[in-house]
Amino acid sequence: MHAEIIAVGSELLLGQIVNTNAQFMSKVLADMGINVFFHTVVGDNAARLKAAIEIAENRADMIIFSGGLGPTKDDLTKETIAAHLNRKLITDVRAMESIEAYFNRVGRTMSENNRKQALVIEGSEVLPNDHGMAPGMIIPVKNHIYMLFPGPPKEMEPMFLTYARPSIMNKLQVQEKIISRVLRFFGIGESQLETEIDDLIVGQTNPTIAPLAGDGEVTLRITAKHQSEGAAKELIDYTERLILNRVGEYFYGYDETSLMSELSKLLKEKQLTIAAAESLTGGMFEKELTSIPGAGSLLMGGVVCYHPKVKQNVLHVKEETIAQHGVVSAECAKELAENVASLMHADIGISFTGVAGPEELEGKPAGTVFIGIKIKDQPTKVEELKLGGNRTSIRIRTVQHGCNYLLK
Ligand code: ATP
Ligand code: MG
Repeated sequence: MHAEIIAVGSELLLGQIVNTNAQFMSKVLADMGINVFFHTVVGDNAARLKAAIEIAENRADMIIFSGGLGPTKDDLTKETIAAHLNRKLITDVRAMESIEAYFNRVGRTMSENNRKQALVIEGSEVLPNDHGMAPGMIIPVKNHIYMLFPGPPKEMEPMFLTYARPSIMNKLQVQEKIISRVLRFFGIGESQLETEIDDLIVGQTNPTIAPLAGDGEVTLRITAKHQSEGAAKELIDYTERLILNRVGEYFYGYDETSLMSELSKLLKEKQLTIAAAESLTGGMFEKELTSIPGAGSLLMGGVVCYHPKVKQNVLHVKEETIAQHGVVSAECAKELAENVASLMHADIGISFTGVAGPEELEGKPAGTVFIGIKIKDQPTKVEELKLGGNRTSIRIRTVQHGCNYLLK
């Protein structure tokens, strides 16, 4: 769709006024994704206006006129277009009513000239003028759409936005695109996240931000509306930057992903292999990792080392480590991670040991968890957690935390 704007008025050619109407219309049309290829200015002269229309018809689909809809002699836009299109001018009842109402309000009598303002081109969609008398018009004819607007900006601008814009969008089936993006966070509670970005949530209407608490994680859905998908994406990008500036350290992924999917992607990218020693989690980590396609090149293997004897005999945790510190200990987690990595010839060894509950173990309460992480030649790290919840949720959270540590 190509548009041309024809501004009618000798005042424009004489340099007495600036063509701000063309500027305004061009901006709005650009926002709507409609290309404006030409701006034309022509004086109040029927022959030259007709010539301008004929030129425009050869190079534009949408021809938009500004000015010359008034009641005086020099206002000849709609008469010229009607003659050109071979259409009659007819009285628009609603426009006539609103003109009569206007004269009643201001207590003046209507002249014949004022009646002329209610004349519209036959077959047009009439655009009400909420700030003056002359209505606007949209006239689709074969391959062209003609649009007529009054000259005064305070009449044209609201008419363009309120009535013309939706009508054009409808005709072109330019619908607003709605797109959204989900940001996923782990390690921050819903209420803390909401507190951190409360002003953004309240202050934004486009995009909107909607928080949602999930299984151990929190997500934010950012939704933007725009006619152009690119512009909607930019709105989302901008809001995402505002959010991540504040809570970026907890962010781990977009849309339909999970901590394990992100971990799997990262391992693939860095070409690292992994092995797991799972006491507390009883194989859950590996079960989840293997549920993602492509795990074959990442996971070397693992040991479900539930019984202390297996920790000792298969994974070679030292007898004195268990005797001194117990199996629920940083020391045990460290040896498990290191030894499973070397046993399985993996780049990364991860271990899970802890108390799933409900009873305590080795004097440690349910929810006490140690995760050991050995990555290549780096010193082994052990993370200690104190988790709440029941047996199932403690085990699920443990796997999530394990993934999260590896993502850091
Ligand atoms: P009216 O009923 O007021 O005569 P009209 O539709 O006939 O409106 P014109 O007579 O062409 O419009 O212009 C009326 C006034 O509108 C001008 O004096 C000027 O102030 C403003 N105007 C017209 N055209 C433009 C334009 N292209 N850009 C900015 N202002 C304009
Ligand atoms: Mg006028």
